[in-house]
Amino acid sequence: MRDCVRKSLNALADLVWPRTCAVEACGRPVDRPQRHICSACFAALPFHEPGGACRVCGTPVPAKTTHAFVCEACATRPPPYARTCSALDYEGTLEEMVKNFKYNRASWLTEDFADLLEGVVRAQLDSSAVDAVFPVPLHPNRQRTRGYNQAALLARALARRLGRRCDEKSLARVRDTPKQSLLGRDERLQNLKGAFSAVRPSFVRGRTILLIDDVTTTGSTLAAAAEPLRDAGAARIWCATLARAPHDS
Ligand SMILES: [Zn+2]
Ligand SMILES: [Zn+2]
Repeated sequence: MRDCVRKSLNALADLVWPRTCAVEACGRPVDRPQRHICSACFAALPFHEPGGACRVCGTPVPAKTTHAFVCEACATRPPPYARTCSALDYEGTLEEMVKNFKYNRASWLTEDFADLLEGVVRAQLDSSAVDAVFPVPLHPNRQRTRGYNQAALLARALARRLGRRCDEKSLARVRDTPKQSLLGRDERLQNLKGAFSAVRPSFVRGRTILLIDDVTTTGSTLAAAAEPLRDAGAARIWCATLARAPHDS
């Protein structure tokens, strides 16, 4: 009932204050209920092609491959997670929107982004096997400065849609590290050593965990966050991100 009232109020608000599409160059009113990206711009987003990427780490490979391709790095030294999937390529308009979502409190984009995450998770993973959805946590210092964790907004919305628990307490970022985006691949790995800890191992052991972040580049943050979960006895760790950025960005 409460949901019904909320929906009616939202529909009324849409009539009184029609929303303009979040894609700056668009300018059209939004035609998707309770969303902020219009259907034309949503369909034109840079959807990530699942073929042509390693099924474990998601790194693109030059030629189109079958769905079961595993890259050499993952074959020789398997990362602590079993799968990674991303909804979009991190480029153009999307980059602007994600930066606003991440740094400028554009939390109103959560449901639009959750639509994309839900789509890729349902298409590429067995979502019914997921026990809990974990956001990649921020260090408390950074969370205090920023005021929120954008990965947690996505994880909460996705968990609700999948009918699963969003667990924001069992994995913690225990070391504050310099910004990953300023570093190269090897420095990223070094920078993240021991940055995360599974602080409630009983909530991890034997579980299938879906780890959520907004953007992945080299996968080093996902690997560093997944490692203590694997060590605490997680049955399976899968990762899903809104977007994948090219390695050299
Ligand atoms: Zn639009
Ligand atoms: Zn790989």
